[in-house]
Amino acid sequence: MSEEKTEVQLLQEKLLMDKKHAAKVIDDVEMAKAMDFAEGYKKFLNDNKTEREVAAFIIEEAKKRGFTEFDKFGTYKPGDKVYYLNRKKAVILAVIGKKSIAEGAHIAAAHIDSPRVDLKPNPLYESNEIALLKTHYYGGIRKYQWPTVPLSMHGIIVRKDGTEIDINIGEKEGEPQFIISDLLPHLAREQSERKLGQGIKGEELNVIVGSLPFKADSGSELVKLNILKMLNDKYGIVEEDFLTAEIEMVPATKVNDIGFDRSLIGGYGHDDRVCAYPELMAILELEEVPEHTAVAVFADKEETGSDGNTGLNSSFLRYFIADLARLEGLMGRDALSKSKCLSADVNAAFDPTFSSPFESANSAYINKGIVVTKYTGSGGKGGTSDASAEFVGEVTRIFTAADVCWQMGELGAVDAGGGGTVAKYVANLDIDVVDVGVPVLSMHAPYEVVSKFDVYSTYRACYEFYSAE
Ligand code: MN
Ligand code: MN
Repeated sequence: MSEEKTEVQLLQEKLLMDKKHAAKVIDDVEMAKAMDFAEGYKKFLNDNKTEREVAAFIIEEAKKRGFTEFDKFGTYKPGDKVYYLNRKKAVILAVIGKKSIAEGAHIAAAHIDSPRVDLKPNPLYESNEIALLKTHYYGGIRKYQWPTVPLSMHGIIVRKDGTEIDINIGEKEGEPQFIISDLLPHLAREQSERKLGQGIKGEELNVIVGSLPFKADSGSELVKLNILKMLNDKYGIVEEDFLTAEIEMVPATKVNDIGFDRSLIGGYGHDDRVCAYPELMAILELEEVPEHTAVAVFADKEETGSDGNTGLNSSFLRYFIADLARLEGLMGRDALSKSKCLSADVNAAFDPTFSSPFESANSAYINKGIVVTKYTGSGGKGGTSDASAEFVGEVTRIFTAADVCWQMGELGAVDAGGGGTVAKYVANLDIDVVDVGVPVLSMHAPYEVVSKFDVYSTYRACYEFYSAE
């Protein structure tokens, strides 16, 4: 026999927010779907570690599902699927909706670049008979985390004659990998006195690539020469070709389930492929022709501030929407100002071990679903797009109506730090936009952690947003 509820209990039920944990509200069928979805994501994350690789994967998958290259002077009808590849590093997919583009597109925008360590233009040198590569880190890394992590080499070399060579070394079983060294504790007395942010300095992120000299009786820098000879034998390149290359060193580690319950995924590059993949699957798997044209943006350069012609601070999204509008004899701005966007990017997950920079009532938590972030920025909301209450209400109503688990979360406590996303660049196009995404532990580390349930919630959120009226 249940006792009758007290007045306080009744009032609490009526008035207080119920911050549910996924495991308490989700039935076994949904949880099984989430676990299943994670398997596809894990494979994607293992196989695609740079923006170029992700872009190529997206195009390949889109073609399989009937997407064709967008022709800005073509003719399209509702249900038609198109793709646009921007300089091999950024992609837009679109499914033409039933309504005119003048009613606005439903856009989701994630980024496909991740923090990493890039090679300098002239990287190869020999020091004390070890061959190393000089690097310049990309994005906001905590430099002390990157030594002693096995690295793989990805990228492209453009030779003098213009031919291009794709590089991918250290991912396949049996391939060599690379490493940045660190001091042994016995001799780190002086280094240990440094502040953490200076623990490893940018110019100390040098990658070891060899140690055997070319066999000769005389000559200097024979280890470097030996490495160059091997590269020449295999790829036909000479030292000068590094000047016209883009080579990225990324963690060679594989994606793993984390925890006895396998609820979490550990891997490199969750930020922001953990939003890009759900967004991609959502638009690829749309079952019905959407009311509004659905647009999936996969941008580059977010980690360095979205500048550059493959970043969202450039015009490629604006031009794409304008091209869609022109097909109907409209101006781009007719479509842009009516469009709505989910800026799909990760947020910090509350970390019980390092709780001080978080404010617990307004943080995102692992396993509570996709996190909605009204504003990012720093120093009093500086440098952010602050989504309107109306738009946050509209988006969260879509999620709630479809039983998508969502939570609201800020990026840390006030003045604890801060950051930004592509949201403001989308908002500057006169588009309604709000940040949503997956909470991440150890964001920007070589090995980040997310929850399978949150990844699945993000997929469902994107799907419902694309399908919304
Ligand atoms: Mn991000
Ligand atoms: Mn980031």
